Amino acid sequence: MRVWIDQDLCTGDGLCIDHCPDVFVQLEDGIAYVAERGVPLNDPGSSGSLARVDQRNHLAVVKAAEVCPGECIFIELDEHDLPPVETPTPLVIHAS
Ligand code: SF4
Repeated sequence: MRVWIDQDLCTGDGLCIDHCPDVFVQLEDGIAYVAERGVPLNDPGSSGSLARVDQRNHLAVVKAAEVCPGECIFIELDEHDLPPVETPTPLVIHAS
């Protein structure tokens, strides 16, 4: 999972930081940014600032996105985040 924030929409209320301080930080401008391994990615308003999220923080990041009043937290799932697709067993009919 990766996440980014559109800073143009951020209200600066800090709810995301309450939910997941490992991933979200608030900088001097009062706006939230994503961080990766403690380093803020502060290229505002750009999906170029995509932070990789550790598995242990996935749920908290989803919760933060759900409560974000600016609706400006965007989550991108990596292929390995998706559940495996089960291939149906082919139906074989034996004619007798
Ligand atoms: S919850 Fe949303 S609006 Fe509030 S600070 Fe975080 S990114 Fe900005």
